[in-house]
Amino acid sequence: MNGKIFLGCIADDFTGATDLANNLVRSGMRVLQAIGVPDAPLLADVDAVVVALKSRTVPAAEAVAQSLQALRWLQAQGAQQIYFKYCSTFDSTAAGNIGPVAEALMDALGTDFTIATPAFPDNARTVFKGHLFVGDQLLSDSGMRSHPLTPMTDANLVKVLQAQCSRKVGLIDHKAVAAGPAAIAQRIEALRAEGVGIAIVDAVSNDDLLRLGPALKGMPLVTAGSGVAIGLPVNFGLAPSSQASALPAATGTRAIVSGSCSQATQRQVAAFIAAGGAALAIDALRVADGADVVGEALAWARPLLAQGPVLVYSTADAATVQAVQARSGVQAAGDAVERTLAAVANGLVAHGVGQLVVAGGETSGACVQALGITQMQIGPQIDPGVPWCHAASPGLHIALKSGNFGTDDFFSKAFTLLQ
Ligand code: ADP
Repeated sequence: MNGKIFLGCIADDFTGATDLANNLVRSGMRVLQAIGVPDAPLLADVDAVVVALKSRTVPAAEAVAQSLQALRWLQAQGAQQIYFKYCSTFDSTAAGNIGPVAEALMDALGTDFTIATPAFPDNARTVFKGHLFVGDQLLSDSGMRSHPLTPMTDANLVKVLQAQCSRKVGLIDHKAVAAGPAAIAQRIEALRAEGVGIAIVDAVSNDDLLRLGPALKGMPLVTAGSGVAIGLPVNFGLAPSSQASALPAATGTRAIVSGSCSQATQRQVAAFIAAGGAALAIDALRVADGADVVGEALAWARPLLAQGPVLVYSTADAATVQAVQARSGVQAAGDAVERTLAAVANGLVAHGVGQLVVAGGETSGACVQALGITQMQIGPQIDPGVPWCHAASPGLHIALKSGNFGTDDFFSKAFTLLQ
């Protein structure tokens, strides 16, 4: 453990943090993801740390406070550059939180200039003349127009960000980006001379992001979606390599806990059972009745663990879920099942499971919390958006799959990749 990291990242939500971590790993960095601001030092020797916050839609002052706390911890780990990560659709309201957090970080770092771009061409998010496109549509014509928390009704990011900032917002347009790092640096100097503090950057391809990378060398703060990450490792002398995703050797027995009811997860559960896997369905109605479902599941799993992966699932079709929700209420039914599956995950690990797949975003959050996981090293990608991770405490390989991710054979594929 050297205790010194190159890149310190602050992500405004959990899955966004994993997305960024995944891009950094694929570009050659060894990455640790922290859930919330750690109160302990780093548990691994890594090149970058991504601190996952839940600051996207909280009041701006709270987002600023959380982000500054993350900044202080990252600085204490020796971070040479800070990366503030937000959503590739620039999810924010007129009050923030992208602008207020970016400016607070600039103040704390004593820097007068940074960039901002959610461009992520691999995911069809491109920025041209300061306007964000989602696929072929302007952001303001996309589904984001009617997002329940952060409706995005203007695609002009210079205007959107200016409304959230006291500093002047400018644009590094595609002409400069296409001309390469020297032209970008020149444009930055020109904007600085005009008193611009934050510049939106055009980028329509990965090549644009790779040209942007060198121009960001030494910039104390970068703010972006996860796309810009692909151009940064080279500034620290790192190139893509399988070493970046290397995790400690997997040990222990294998299990899957699934609380996702998405179509994809339903197919994955069915495929696992069809292939002869040992599986136990949790009946949410019995959970609601207070039966000892956790004890039963652990007693069932224990003798089977030595033979191969076991699956404990509450995954069910829409009609089954609705019947439970009609009886207990949507929130209460969800919470009870999450608590049950988290207790099962915890019990399985206590019984020697060392390789755990969790299906479901909320279910993952509950399991990570129950297992007391606060730091995870990011390993190889099983399917886009889902890497294996290793938590040094409690000593566990874990993959957190959100609902619709993964191919039908995801569960068996995941364990094969780890061998
Ligand atoms: P996804 O990533 O697919 O959205 P989540 O874990 O985020 O999966 O959400 C699934 C929600 O459904 C959780 O709150 C979970 O507890 C709940 N749930 C899972 N199985 C059942 C079930 N059989 N009946 C009712 N609710 C369920």
